[in-house]
Amino acid sequence: MATETRGFQTEAKKLLQLMINSLYSNKEIFLRELISNASDAIDKLRFESLANPELIAEDSDYRIRIEFDKEEGTLTISDNGIGMSRDEVVDNLGTIAKSGTEEFFSQLTGDQKQDSALIGQFGVGFYSAFIVADEVEVRTCRAGSSEGTLWTSTGEDDFTIGEEECSRGTKVTLRLKKDASEFADGYRLRNIVTRYSDHIGIPVEMLEELPPKSDDDDSDTEEILPSMEVVNSARALWSRSRTDVKDEEYQEFYKHISHDFEDPAHWSHNKVEGKLEYTSLLFLPKRAPFDLWNREAPKGLKLYVQRVFIMDEAEQFLPLYLRFVRGIVDSNDLPLNVSRELLQESLHVTSIRNALTKRVLDMFSKVSADDQELYGELWDEFGQVLKEGVGEDFTNRDALLKLFRFASTKDASEDKQRVSLLDYVSRAKDDQDKIYFLVAESLAAARQSPHLETFNKQEVEVLLLFDRVDEWFVSFVEEFEGKKFQNVMRGDLNLAKGDQEQEDSEEKDDPLLGRIKTVLESQVETVRKSKRLTESAACLVLGDEDMGYQMRRMMEAAGQPVPESKPHLEVNLDHPLLGRLDKEQDEERFQNIVRILFDQAALADGTSLAEPGEYVKRINQLIVELME
Ligand code: ADP
Repeated sequence: MATETRGFQTEAKKLLQLMINSLYSNKEIFLRELISNASDAIDKLRFESLANPELIAEDSDYRIRIEFDKEEGTLTISDNGIGMSRDEVVDNLGTIAKSGTEEFFSQLTGDQKQDSALIGQFGVGFYSAFIVADEVEVRTCRAGSSEGTLWTSTGEDDFTIGEEECSRGTKVTLRLKKDASEFADGYRLRNIVTRYSDHIGIPVEMLEELPPKSDDDDSDTEEILPSMEVVNSARALWSRSRTDVKDEEYQEFYKHISHDFEDPAHWSHNKVEGKLEYTSLLFLPKRAPFDLWNREAPKGLKLYVQRVFIMDEAEQFLPLYLRFVRGIVDSNDLPLNVSRELLQESLHVTSIRNALTKRVLDMFSKVSADDQELYGELWDEFGQVLKEGVGEDFTNRDALLKLFRFASTKDASEDKQRVSLLDYVSRAKDDQDKIYFLVAESLAAARQSPHLETFNKQEVEVLLLFDRVDEWFVSFVEEFEGKKFQNVMRGDLNLAKGDQEQEDSEEKDDPLLGRIKTVLESQVETVRKSKRLTESAACLVLGDEDMGYQMRRMMEAAGQPVPESKPHLEVNLDHPLLGRLDKEQDEERFQNIVRILFDQAALADGTSLAEPGEYVKRINQLIVELME
């Protein structure tokens, strides 16, 4: 097939530019990325060869090799792994096949500093070669094929692709930029390999460094040629004992499997022996991946069976709400030819999944006990996803609830969610049998809600919920530590026990309530005297069975039918406005003010008005009257 030149996909070009700018000060990670790709390629071949041993008949000693030429300024990383066909080269090195790429690019601001932080979430990879190289050549041949491919690019607009002799695996040659000549040096390279890639289960080889020949050594002994030596420990990290692995090694391993370039927040490495035998190594990232909310985004663990890599993204080992967890699981009980379908049905997998889920929740709980600041950051990143767990994972509901953090009326200075349910319960009043919460569109809206007035006055803490999943998730929880959850916008509040009965009878007798109800007949269920308000004139209260505003908005946005329901209007009879209203003789004016009162109560809850134009007209009419 002829040599041809092709343009990079637009995204690939943008990504390349961004990467070169972002990683300039951390150039050396290109080597980790290329070694990582080489090791993945060997893992894949090892797996394919289980079914097709022919593939490795001629060469079954897997290895990654690093060679350099100081004079030429080149560096070559080669592997004898799976290799790529011509089409695969075009797809893999000319386009970005990740789902959610468009979303990622839409998040970029053009501000170099901010965008640089995002690139880590996207994951670097092969293109990082262009941080140090002004030209990259990839020679590759798919195992089992006899046609090799040569891909060349300067990382600008295009790449060329042509034929090449076949030698199984992939050889990536970098022509180093002038300011990256330091990488054509044996000591420097060894140093990077031990730092970043020591844990890779495949030997990384380099030519040994011979001591320089001294000038006065003129003996005519034969020149000793350097031979290849292995420069990493070449033992899968998770197969080592926990006590032998240094923190830095875990951190590098995390970067190897996740392509993240920040350290993980926490990890947990466990070997389980007995009826089920497996090893797991799980990591909590510090930051959510950019595609956390994308349904097609890759998720799941790397699966190994008896040290042999089987598949990436084995989703069956963790529930969906823990999709951001990275790691590996290596099982001794699964067959080597296990498929995704088999995983789905396997009881082994279900038991491992249950154990790993608990492990992840334990990691969170450990961080929350040891480092509250870090826990707060994790909550900000993953809290919304963990909330999904309440609907998805009944068994761990209590453990999950303990991890949740909320904003609250008790720490008004804090604009973050940092109050736990245990905090709440421990400082609740002695006779308080409920956990009070309010759901609003934003924290600011929540703090201003008239529904909080009586709670503030009586110093009863209310949790302020404003994440879009909140109303949904509380619908799954009945209680925590024996206290029932109570939405402060719902039902008949009975905060101050006492002269309830007397009030009820007063309420029935108050003619003003009846007059208001006549005006709002079609809009409200009842009009009643409020036990909630101390400052505002009126508020709307939902019935116990009514759908909340947040859920309503979500269903409306999704085009689903929403059940009809009318709120109750509660009025504060001690408010001067109500006092005046009671004396209003002009029926038209009375009706106008009642309607304004109703609309204002709706506005205070963040709901939109059915007839905003009418509201504005009424208010303006009042203003005009005032100015006359
Ligand atoms: P990632 O590794 O995150 O998928 P990369 O940009 O590093 O992204 O690589 C893109 C794809 O190119 C890989 O998924 C793989 O299919 C292919 N690839 C890269 N390096 C090699 C290699 N040494 N051998 C075989 N395939 C490779």
